[in-house]
Amino acid sequence: MTVLVLGDQLTRTVGPLTDHDGRVLMIEARAFARRHPYHPHKLGLVFAAMRRFRDRLRGAGHAVAYRQCETFAEGLGAHFEAHPDDELTVVRPASHGGADRLRELVADAGGSLTVVEDERFLCSPAGFDEWAGDRDSLTHESFYRRMRRETGYLMDGDQPVGGEWNYDEQNRETPPDDYEPPAPPTFEYDDGTREVIEWAESEFTGGYDEPPYGGDWADPDEFRWPVTREQALRALDRFAESRLPEFGPYQDAMREDEWAMNHSLLSAPLNLGLLTPAEVVERVLDAYRERDLPLNSVEGFVRQVIGWREFLRHVYRREMPELATANQLDQQESLPEFYWTGETDMACLSDVIDGVRRRGYSHHIERLMILSNFALIYGVEPAELNRWFHAGYVDAYHWVTTPNVVEMGSFGAGVFATKPYASSANYVDKMSDYCSGCPYYKTKTTGEGACPFNAFYWDFLDRNEDELRSNHRMGLVYSHLDDKGDDEMEAIRERAAKLRERAERGDL
Ligand SMILES: Cc1cc2nc3c(=O)[nH]c(=O)nc-3n(C[C@H](O)[C@H](O)[C@H](O)COP(=O)(O)OP(=O)(O)OC[C@H]3O[C@@H](n4cnc5c(N)ncnc54)[C@H](O)[C@@H]3O)c2cc1C
Ligand code: SF4
Repeated sequence: MTVLVLGDQLTRTVGPLTDHDGRVLMIEARAFARRHPYHPHKLGLVFAAMRRFRDRLRGAGHAVAYRQCETFAEGLGAHFEAHPDDELTVVRPASHGGADRLRELVADAGGSLTVVEDERFLCSPAGFDEWAGDRDSLTHESFYRRMRRETGYLMDGDQPVGGEWNYDEQNRETPPDDYEPPAPPTFEYDDGTREVIEWAESEFTGGYDEPPYGGDWADPDEFRWPVTREQALRALDRFAESRLPEFGPYQDAMREDEWAMNHSLLSAPLNLGLLTPAEVVERVLDAYRERDLPLNSVEGFVRQVIGWREFLRHVYRREMPELATANQLDQQESLPEFYWTGETDMACLSDVIDGVRRRGYSHHIERLMILSNFALIYGVEPAELNRWFHAGYVDAYHWVTTPNVVEMGSFGAGVFATKPYASSANYVDKMSDYCSGCPYYKTKTTGEGACPFNAFYWDFLDRNEDELRSNHRMGLVYSHLDDKGDDEMEAIRERAAKLRERAERGDL
């Protein structure tokens, strides 16, 4: 029996490699990397991490066949030619239909495949489905409480530690002007890893940093992600030791000169399998106990990992394939070109997109309240926005971008989002320092120099009135819309139409 290890399943902590001392097959298929204009750092990260994992397995005595080929089918063909009667075991791929596609490929190559469940996640499909039962709607908060009870994390008997399930009220602060978060970690890469990163950059031309998507900007020297388990554990330690205490209060804050703030930067190693969610949370809880860290920071972080990450994984599993193309607001605009090029005068979008181009990363609130908020109020088709996120981020996989982008960011399906995350410049100004350095006026909605977020926001509410007005969570914003007179609304519609023309011309 051979264990087939896919590129985002790089773990020996749980799963079939924990008690397997036989053969391992890994296939590095280049065609996979050409399917989207992926960020070069994403490709470098995945290929480097796969090769380092191969080395680690070999070091531990496994016979690893590492096949480098154009297509996955070629790799399987070569494997079954060498081992005609072999049986493969694989952890269920996270992407929708992935297991069925694999079964077909293996059958075509003349072999057989056993698919086992992915034990990295804390909540199994059966556990989630039992919780979901025949509920009308899936709410994250209720799932999260179930996860707290089931894991025992931050529990005092059957009550939450501190008496509250959630300390979000304390987690919406902005830092003082002179605040400097602890620096994020950097890693030393060996020559082999550097070569892979540079090779990925030059091999996959026509990708994210090539015209028409952008320019030659993704510098291999800026690559900064853990590619081995040791590096991932070091990243986790660094987070628990330095940035965790203030993770909570500044979780939603955005600063032009601080791309990481106090975020953990652990999504990429988590999604690759270099870390498991359980060990991440347990390391954080150890730090909490040892150093008496603020509960609002610790709980805020634990919620992201055992709550949101697990919840969205199951939303994806249950709602696909419809979720990928869900578009309940019938949004049809194309994504403005500046999402690829970064060429816009809007200070917030320009800075966040520049960060994505340079590092393949931006933190959650930048993803939600700058990038997808703007696309939402502009009217971008959710599936197109999803393709952009999928291409641009080092931590992007279809199972995690789709519920985040299509549902949370674009209000595409109404599966769990109870209202759209739409906002004007007001929110951006409250949570960031962008507006003070922007050529647009944050308080103006129409007229020369008015912030585009404002006209698009009111225009969005106006365009989607039939779908949104009856939503009880939207009552207040529609009462503000009602305060606007006909002339004001006409000016807003005109301004939004002109701004859209300018965006199409690349002049926003
Ligand atoms: C539009 C949009 C697109 C996103 N695309 C991705 C993506 O491609 N890949 C990805 O892993 N996450 C995605 N997220 C979720 C979240 O923004 C990232 O996980 C987080 O920003 C990663 O940075 P971090 O590790 O520093 O996170 P932290 O802020 O330190 O959070 C800790 C961990 O919690 C988990 N987490 C937090 N929120 C979410 C969430 N909404 N969904 C899933 N996991 C979560 C992540 O594993 C993260 O590492 C997206 C969110 C939005 C709104
Ligand atoms: S004024 Fe508008 S475009 Fe400029 S930074 Fe603020 S929200 Fe962004």
